[in-house]
Amino acid sequence: MTNLSPHLRQATPVVAVRGEGVHLYGEDGRRYLDFTAGIGVTSTGHCHPRVVAAAQEQVATLIHGQYTTVMHRPLQQLVAELGEVLPAGLDSLFFTNSGSEAVEAALRLARQATGRPNIVVCHGGFHGRTVAAASMTTSGTRFRSGFAPLMPGVVVTPFPAAYRYGWDEDTATRFALQELDYVLQTISSPADTAAVVVEPVLGEGGYVPATRAFMEGLRERADRHGFLLVMDEVQTGVGRTGRFWGHEHFGVAPDILVTAKGLASGFPLSGIAASEELMSRAWPGSQGGTYGANAVACAAAVATLRTVGEERLVENAEAMGKRLRAGLEEVAAEHSCIGDVRGLGLMLASEFVTEDGRPAPEIAARVQQAAIEEGLLLLLCGAWNNVVRMIPALVIDEAGVDEGLRAWSAAVRAGVSGR
Ligand code: PMP
Repeated sequence: MTNLSPHLRQATPVVAVRGEGVHLYGEDGRRYLDFTAGIGVTSTGHCHPRVVAAAQEQVATLIHGQYTTVMHRPLQQLVAELGEVLPAGLDSLFFTNSGSEAVEAALRLARQATGRPNIVVCHGGFHGRTVAAASMTTSGTRFRSGFAPLMPGVVVTPFPAAYRYGWDEDTATRFALQELDYVLQTISSPADTAAVVVEPVLGEGGYVPATRAFMEGLRERADRHGFLLVMDEVQTGVGRTGRFWGHEHFGVAPDILVTAKGLASGFPLSGIAASEELMSRAWPGSQGGTYGANAVACAAAVATLRTVGEERLVENAEAMGKRLRAGLEEVAAEHSCIGDVRGLGLMLASEFVTEDGRPAPEIAARVQQAAIEEGLLLLLCGAWNNVVRMIPALVIDEAGVDEGLRAWSAAVRAGVSGR
């Protein structure tokens, strides 16, 4: 009998047969509240009627037209729609299929554009599983071990992860910037540094938001030393954090922006945005791919972006995120094993720790399993897998948030007591 690879650890036993909005329906006849959204992908909810209609129409019209051969209308429309939301000056776009591919496209562009070899990444960052992206990933050895040698030229600098250090944000930020200066003085001189790559909120690394002063500090150093600031917005983009892009929280724009996940509500689509001047420094033939900017995925993305705008889903993410966060903080106040509640918008997490503050992955895993009993699907993250994250679709309403909080409260009680 054929089966999935044993390396694929399925977090829940649910066999999904249908999805609608924030809910999934299982083969077992149960309805589940989906706080995973396909790992932050189904931004407009499962099977949003507008996305379904756009994709269906496109499937019957043109499924694929490779962009180095022919242009197609959904791609033209997508470029125009993204122009409405991208930061000023990032007016040149390139499309791929997954977050990892887009990260690698940014990496290639940064090296070609600067002629410099090194990529500085933040400790705890996650950028993907292809070998170059995994080389830039430092959110857990599980993402890097066993297939060395990794790509050379990656240098790691601290992220202002205040809770982990046991510091306030100002102290963590000062430390992180001082260490970056030290890294630039001791390991990767500015003349050897092509880019610094950062997530506005560490994703797989534990849902830790950056700070404004840190992002400003990165921008200032990039400008001063002539390297590029790359923001990996694969998880934080398209309204997830209560702003269209995560970096808007910090008032600092990147030179290269990487997007994926929520962009097409579940169809594989990713890409990078940069200035035309920068993008034109990529060598002909070095960027590309057979399936990038697939016509159906582009049509779904156009429908997604229009839905996000017209249904005011960014504003909804901010409002629902506040409500969810307030509820998570109430639950945390009742349980000393929840050491921290953090995140931005609808990208929220609770960190589980032992009495003496060490990571407690076993409690997090029990809570995750107990939540399934309560009809709530959740994912873990963080280096120790001790952080439970919540990333519901941006269409969630008050009733959905309250349903999730009731299930969460019961699941934490059950998980903590070990029942
Ligand atoms: N960058 C970030 C910030 C991510 O969160 C992820 C996926 N979790 C990736 C890159 C990789 O994306 P993909 O799994 O689509 O390759």
